[in-house]
Amino acid sequence: MNLQDKIYLDYSATTPVDPRVTERMLTYFTESFGNPSSVHGFGQQAEAAVELAREDIAAQLHCDPMEIIFTSCGSESDNLAIRGAAFAQRAAFGRNHLLISPVEHHAVAHTAEQLSEHFGFELEYLPVDETGIVEPAAVRAHLRPETALVSVIYANNEIGTINPITEIGAVCQEAGVIFHTDAVQAGAYLNLAADELNVDLMSLGAHKFYGPKGVGVLYRRVDTPLMPMQTGGSQEHSLRAGTQNVPYIVGMAEALKIAAAERQAASSNLRAFRDRLIGSILEEIPGAYLTGHPTNRLPNHASFVFDHVDGNALLMQLDLHGMACSSGSACKTGSPSPSEVLLALGIPAQRALGSLRVTLGRWTTAEQINIFINALPGIINQNRKLHG
Ligand SMILES: *Cc1c(COP(=O)(O)O)cnc(C)c1O
Repeated sequence: MNLQDKIYLDYSATTPVDPRVTERMLTYFTESFGNPSSVHGFGQQAEAAVELAREDIAAQLHCDPMEIIFTSCGSESDNLAIRGAAFAQRAAFGRNHLLISPVEHHAVAHTAEQLSEHFGFELEYLPVDETGIVEPAAVRAHLRPETALVSVIYANNEIGTINPITEIGAVCQEAGVIFHTDAVQAGAYLNLAADELNVDLMSLGAHKFYGPKGVGVLYRRVDTPLMPMQTGGSQEHSLRAGTQNVPYIVGMAEALKIAAAERQAASSNLRAFRDRLIGSILEEIPGAYLTGHPTNRLPNHASFVFDHVDGNALLMQLDLHGMACSSGSACKTGSPSPSEVLLALGIPAQRALGSLRVTLGRWTTAEQINIFINALPGIINQNRKLHG
């Protein structure tokens, strides 16, 4: 079977680059190849492209272009936010307490864990309810005078749940504590206006909204103290050294513009597909449970656990049937361990091993949803006979 004939239902893992984006990028690999830091015309041309992209992205985020830092990916944005703010807060005020949710992406969770294990920070986890939501009141209750940073994921990559970022941000602002959100999954679908969200730091990655892999943004509210983690030249307001990736930055700005223009139509279209898929699976398959919030979730995101199912085997079966999905368990081979995110919701480990994530996107069709819905019950049955 050709890859073109397969059904891609893993848009939360990555998205294809929109052809309109590829088209915009091309000239910056060849004719307009200058180093943005060079003084001559080649450099000026590249610098102008980077600064125009910065303005375009700032317009989408309702912020000043000065508040945009270009990075190499969503993970780097998370790293710079967490590490950079933690070290700056400790250096200036002796603050060493980090508060994060237990349902963060590894780019946040493993960074905070390393700061705690090797750099003397105290890491504390916020409570979440069984849908993965962090309550603003819980944040308020856990803040301390020595809290350096709070980080709460905007929209969850594994379970789709959307957190009340504006309200959590208000709690942190009132207490004078730096607030970061990982908005990588929110890029294509949710409000990114930094002023309305009350965030000091916000991470985005282009390949989750139909831009290229290997480029990201960190929004940094003006004057938020940040210790640079990559030192060298004075690029990105001296907060992130390294020659900018001009074509990818141009592509990311174009991708974000398209995503914003199409956000409403795409959301309502995908929400209808998503709800049909969720309804059908919960109805047709016994021992199936939705994970995350039933309604307050990404419009393209459906996620489940199944009793007596081997999640890894399920992904391989689906792949053989021409359908590409994902699960919560991180392991590709060997003995899988259940997802920490699913365990944090109180899902029993045995059930968490039978997880499935189905994420839709710009090229998903009603026919693809039909094929998937019709095939899954039989595939689950087969899985239960072999592994259950
Ligand atoms: C994909 C993802 C990341 C990592 O982004 P990369 O650009 O792949 O490094 C971080 N956080 C969330 C929520 C993601 O979905």
